[in-house]
Amino acid sequence: MLPSESVSALPLTAASTELLSYSASCALPTPWATFQLHAFIEASTGKEHLAITLGDISDGQPVLARLHSECLTGDTLFSQRCDCGAQLEGALRKIAAEERGILLYLRQEGRGIGLINKIRAYALQEQGADTVEANHELGFADDLRSYAICAPMLKHFGIQSLKLMTNNPRKIAALQALGFDAERIELIIGSTRFNARYLATKASKLGHLMTAAPAHSGNTEK
Ligand SMILES: [Zn+2]
Repeated sequence: MLPSESVSALPLTAASTELLSYSASCALPTPWATFQLHAFIEASTGKEHLAITLGDISDGQPVLARLHSECLTGDTLFSQRCDCGAQLEGALRKIAAEERGILLYLRQEGRGIGLINKIRAYALQEQGADTVEANHELGFADDLRSYAICAPMLKHFGIQSLKLMTNNPRKIAALQALGFDAERIELIIGSTRFNARYLATKASKLGHLMTAAPAHSGNTEK
């Protein structure tokens, strides 16, 4: 395992630092492994993005990875409206099991519309709209997320090739467009009575590759 100092000492290219800059690293002990947590600041927005890493990820071999967009309600408030919390935990567990990998925690809440608008969208969903219709009603596109900031983060760690845990083909295409080698690893998350419609809409309207799965241990299917 590479000590964090040698990872964080990798120089950023001039092009990378235009988008975001590396700030600091520390240990992140979790129930599954003690990861390294690395912070970056996006120049244009001031947003703080994170990378959670484990093991030697700079050896040129494909790295088990997840691009996780922040979901305050799902990641930290245990919301069962979406599958974000279960995906975050599932990805960290897989990285811990493999003792090697990276999770980029990207601060683009609510597929990019922000927390307040996401809560507005949830209120519209309570009146019958699905997740895509609610975004449209608020004047937003289906998905405003950009993965361009991933490039300097991955380059910071010397990563070129990824085994990406995702059900979203847009993420694979985005990484390939940024010049990375990316193959998909399925991330199976169980549905709950609260997120079944959300998952169905992601499959039918946003092109997600959903596999029917039994109830996940991190879920509370009733
Ligand atoms: Zn979520």
